[in-house]
Parts: sequence; C-alpha cells; structure tokens
Amino acid sequence: MSTGHARSSSQLPTPTMEEVNPGIYAYVQLDGSWGLNNTGFIKGPNGLTMIDTCFTEARTRSYLEAVRRVSPLPMKTLINTHHHGDHTHGNYLVTDASIIGHELCRETVIETGLQSLHPLFPNVEWGDLELAPPTITFKDQMDIYAGTDGDLKIELIFMGPAHTTNDIVAWLPERKLLFAGDLLFNQGTPFVAMGSVSGSLQAIKRLRELGAETIIPGHGSVCGPKVMDDVEAYLTLIQDTAREAFEAGLTPLDASRQTDLGRFSEWHDAERIAGNLHRAYSELRWEPAGTKLDLAPMVSDMVSLNGGRPVRCLA
Ligand SMILES: [Zn+2]
Repeated sequence: MSTGHARSSSQLPTPTMEEVNPGIYAYVQLDGSWGLNNTGFIKGPNGLTMIDTCFTEARTRSYLEAVRRVSPLPMKTLINTHHHGDHTHGNYLVTDASIIGHELCRETVIETGLQSLHPLFPNVEWGDLELAPPTITFKDQMDIYAGTDGDLKIELIFMGPAHTTNDIVAWLPERKLLFAGDLLFNQGTPFVAMGSVSGSLQAIKRLRELGAETIIPGHGSVCGPKVMDDVEAYLTLIQDTAREAFEAGLTPLDASRQTDLGRFSEWHDAERIAGNLHRAYSELRWEPAGTKLDLAPMVSDMVSLNGGRPVRCLA
C-alpha cells in the first residue's frame, strides 16, 4: 500500500456551507482527512438544531461564524453523532444548547477527555478546549422535531458498534436526508478501529433500508447512496484480508503492507488499514464487537505505514 502525499493546510479548499434541502445546511471541510469533519444544522421557527462541532477551537469558531451568516436564531439543540473529538471538541462553544448523544457517547467523551488522541496528532493547535459531553442521552432511538414549521421529524437512531461503540445517525424521513456521522466517509478510508468491522457492515445494511437520497457523510462531500457500496466494498476487503492474514499468522502491520488496496488506494489516509485490521483480528479472536482495544499498537502501526511520520492531520 502507499499513503497520500504530504500537503499543507494552506492548500486545502475553504470549508463550505451548503443548503442541501430547504432549511437544512451542511458545513463541509474538505479534503475530509484526519480531523476535517462535516457538521450541519436545521433551521426551526425559533432555534437551530445543530449536528456535531469541530476538532479545534479555531475550526469550531469558523463554523459557528458560518452558521451566523445564515441565521441569527439561538442554537438550542446540539446532536453528537459519536464521541470522537473532531465531532465533539467544539461542543463547549455552543454554550446554551442541550447536547444530545448516545449514552455511551457521553460516557466515552468523559472517559477519553481532551488529551488521549494527542499522540496521534502532535502538530494540531487545539486552542483552549473544554470538555462538554452530551447532557441528554438515549439508548436506541430518540425523535426530535425541528424545521421551519417546527414539525420536521429527526430520528436519532443508534447504529453502534460500528465506527465507534456509540454511533447514531440523524435521519429525516420526510426529506430522505441522512446525517450519517462517520459510518460513512466519502472518498476517505473508513476507520473502524474503535468500533467494529462486522458491526459497520450491519449498519450499512440498516442505512440502505432507510432509503436516503441525500447523505451528509462524516467526512467528504455531500453525496448519494452509492457511497454505501464503496464503504461496504472496502470493509469486506478488510474482513477477507484479515481472515487470510490471521490464519497465516501475519501481524496486522505485515498484512497492511502486503495488501493491494486497488481503487481504495486513491482514498486519503490509507494507513487506517492497520487500525482496521487490528479490529478485524479482535473479531476473529471472537472478542465481542466494540471490545476496548489498546490504541497504542494501532497508532504505531499507522505511523509506520506513514513512513514513520505522524499521520497527516491538517485540522
Ligand atoms: Zn469519528
């Protein structure tokens, strides 16, 4: 396998705010690589329903300024699709919002704190982050109502363990529109090291049944349902590769080096294969989906695949 060429953040496109459906906005930070996530919001009659925040203080402040250019309404509700810092670090800047997430999202945000991913991303300027976990939690599904007339249904559906243990999606059935969180990456390598390979494949089957026409993935451009075929094909390759390599006694790092990623080598952050294979190995050892694994060996394998340099994070 090979990894992408080094680029600097100055060469990244400016983040965009797109009205993807009347009153529904997606904020897209390309190129969608490590730490460059998507967020969004839904305009209501007297408030905004927000979905996720950003990795650093500066990126979240830029996002909130972009929201303010669209609407002056108060940001009343904030939904977290999962615990990862690129979706939750900026929560504290949405000061008056109720923050909704899965119960394991709250638990994991608190347990993870603000420092734990720093070894993977030594060059990021975080700003003065403050921990702000979800304040309202649920287990399986929660419905909330927003939209310009206040009766647009948003179904928050638990899909984990998949990308993490605590993934939810925000599904708007009347608009056939899905905020998928990191269950779906568009043109980026999926990363399921903290969740489950098999659980991610199951989640994609459930997502297909929803019948979404517009998808805001967790990373990458707004897209249609075809993205699910791509992510499914990649994860199936991971499962097949892991099965053979596990039987052959290869380490996840050796297996990563030997794998021909084919068309997926075009996606950014190809080194994630090592983390994904560590997770697939855990499942081949019959450990329960979402079992907590030590991240240190995964990080070190991903750095090795990246030529010994920290992974490219331009956030
Ligand atoms: Zn994530």
